[in-house]
Amino acid sequence: MTSCIFCQIAEGTIPSEKIYEDEHVVAFMDVMPVTEGHVLLIPKNHRENLYEMTEEEASNLFSVAPKLANLLKETFTPAGMNLLQNNGAPAGQAVFHFHMHFIPRYDETDGFR
Ligand code: 5GP
Ligand code: ZN
Repeated sequence: MTSCIFCQIAEGTIPSEKIYEDEHVVAFMDVMPVTEGHVLLIPKNHRENLYEMTEEEASNLFSVAPKLANLLKETFTPAGMNLLQNNGAPAGQAVFHFHMHFIPRYDETDGFR
């Protein structure tokens, strides 16, 4: 069995609150949201970070971004949204399975900088 936590989330062997899934990707709620509605989008296949993604994999993943952003916009009615993606520990990557953060933004007091 894989030791990667996001592979286990993709496989469903550890629980998560999934909000979108297709052949290539899964999106689920971040367990420690920096703002309300914080979501992570991952490829189902294990890729450590952006350096390991093929153009096709990156394309399959990012093609979901408008749909996901609109779903979050309708559900949480934020005033804005940040997309963020960390590569390597010095850049803040803590889980070494590629993930893109979708961070709904509310106002200057929403807690995220
Ligand atoms: P990074 O710093 O690697 O870009 O972000 C990792 C993110 O994964 C963090 O926002 C963290 O809260 C989230 N995370 C870590 N472990 C889990 C988990 O087991 N389940 C979920 N849903 N999110 C996780
Ligand atoms: Zn993985």
